[in-house]
Amino acid sequence: MKIKFWGTRGSIPVPGESTLKYGGNTPCVQIISGSGKSLILDAGTGINNLGNKIISDNQNTGINLLITHSHWDHIQGLTFFQPFYKEENSINIFAATNNNLPVEKILHYQFKEAFFPVGKEILKAKINLTRLKENATFNIDNFTVNTVSTHHASGTLGFKITIDGTTIVYLTDNEVYCNTADKPDIDLVREKNIELIRFCEEADFLIHDTMYDYDDYKNKEGWGHSSNLTATAFAAAAKVKNLIFFHYNPLYSDDKIDKFISDSIQLSKKYDLSLKIIPAQENKILTF
Ligand SMILES: [Zn+2]
Ligand SMILES: [Zn+2]
Repeated sequence: MKIKFWGTRGSIPVPGESTLKYGGNTPCVQIISGSGKSLILDAGTGINNLGNKIISDNQNTGINLLITHSHWDHIQGLTFFQPFYKEENSINIFAATNNNLPVEKILHYQFKEAFFPVGKEILKAKINLTRLKENATFNIDNFTVNTVSTHHASGTLGFKITIDGTTIVYLTDNEVYCNTADKPDIDLVREKNIELIRFCEEADFLIHDTMYDYDDYKNKEGWGHSSNLTATAFAAAAKVKNLIFFHYNPLYSDDKIDKFISDSIQLSKKYDLSLKIIPAQENKILTF
């Protein structure tokens, strides 16, 4: 089993010297099973490099892409996903109907003349589109996928993926509701987020939104994103084994992210000694 991060940044790509360690591309994650099957989560700009790799490795069949919602940072790589342009490819796209925009329209609008020079007739691959709703369960190859509604723009989904006995929850663009005292109160976090905590309970890996540090979060309450410390409290309350920080603020440098990770590790020891915090890094692979 592997998790590979092709894009880790929220909002807008930020390539440059200060983001080399954690990455500048927007969200795209690949889950690869022991038998080599894979699921792609989100189509931010990180999907461009993944598409090129799929083409160069000649892995052209059965591409499965799940999209959490249609905010730009989660779909902006779609038009440059090279497997779309190969006739021999079959691509299944599963997407939430964010703000009532169904998956066929998400794709259609990306190829409108105002946004892209050629229409979607240029796509050669066979593309199957599936609309997703909350609280659904379905299978793709040997993966079982459960969906949940997150605390973000209406219709945004989180995914729980079970494969080879391992559970991975992808909860990007989610606001952990909490207080804004000196540090998050874990009992309050449990009380205010109980449904999502139940969804994540005892997961092996939780990939979670950590857009802000705790001070910045205090000015961004209600914006649909979480802080490093509230995500840590949430993961401890849900008793997950590994918390993966993800969807970093585009204004944050590698040094800033290093600091907020060490603050979170310190806090996690107060909640749950066994909780492990892992920062997502672009192009890095977690193997387990
Ligand atoms: Zn986002
Ligand atoms: Zn969003």
